[in-house]
Amino acid sequence: MNRTIAILSGGTGTPKLLWGFKEVSDDFFVVVNTAEDVWVSGNKICPDIDSVIYALSDTIDTEKWWGAREDSFVTHERLKSLGFDEGMMIGDIDRATHILRSHLIRKGKDLLEATRILKSRFGVKQEIFPMCNEEVSTLIETESGTMHFQEFWVGRRGEPKVNNIIFKGIDEAKIPVEVKEFLEKCRAVIIGPSNPITSIGPIISVKGYKEILEEKKVIVVSPIIGKNPVSGPAGKFMRSLGYEVSPAGVAEVYRDFIDVLVIDERDSDYELDFVEVVKADTIMKKKEDAENLSEFLLELV
Ligand code: GDP
Repeated sequence: MNRTIAILSGGTGTPKLLWGFKEVSDDFFVVVNTAEDVWVSGNKICPDIDSVIYALSDTIDTEKWWGAREDSFVTHERLKSLGFDEGMMIGDIDRATHILRSHLIRKGKDLLEATRILKSRFGVKQEIFPMCNEEVSTLIETESGTMHFQEFWVGRRGEPKVNNIIFKGIDEAKIPVEVKEFLEKCRAVIIGPSNPITSIGPIISVKGYKEILEEKKVIVVSPIIGKNPVSGPAGKFMRSLGYEVSPAGVAEVYRDFIDVLVIDERDSDYELDFVEVVKADTIMKKKEDAENLSEFLLELV
């Protein structure tokens, strides 16, 4: 066992945490959800990996919490005027990341190698690992049919009623050998404030993760405060799969391996019999907020 900490991440809440975490610790690596990845205009977009790279290199747009800071959308708008709607807003600077990733993949690199090259070019020292090399896609079964997560969230603004959530390709996916070695050796695992169903759900559904997490100290920051997520569709997805939309519901998703649940200081006090519950200020608006929460998590570790 070494002192390194593993952080599991989606694309908004945990990147906010990482933005501050890197200021207070060097010794961590990140395992990122890839089930929201899509190919658009010939390029592979990994929304969550991109957000983590941009957060750790201080180049993320901290207003929207996706995409590169001070980006423009000239190519996207030009394509639209030529009659082709990409379906999601892709910035010109952001697109360069997707082009380089796709180039590396076409040259024969797997996603793990391509991510390592990309993050190094951004000057990021910490390892950023995709959850797996195989393609996995989150499909949302709704009243209006089954659609990719991006179509549900971006195209349909998260409106259709959700019946079920499927991770297509998950049975073929496995934890990459290197990620397994890093996770087995790490000191503790932090699951940042990410959507438990569609961001962390795919990671822990990939073969090989749960067994390791069961052996580790796992600290979870709740993305739900009171009865609502801070942002995004986590509440809708939790409800549709039968979980209570609350920090307790979040703990329930992780019941098999969670050790500590960090809830927000604005939440009411409560106890759960299978997990230690602690309180902190978990709302991250400024980098200082993320740093303070990171210090608190390091003390828990
Ligand atoms: P996604 O890939 O964009 O869905 O991003 P994540 O899954 O990483 O993050 C989305 C989750 O982060 C949502 O459920 C939000 O409630 C949560 N979130 C966003 N900002 C904050 C914050 O400042 N504090 C906390 N506690 N949760 C947050």
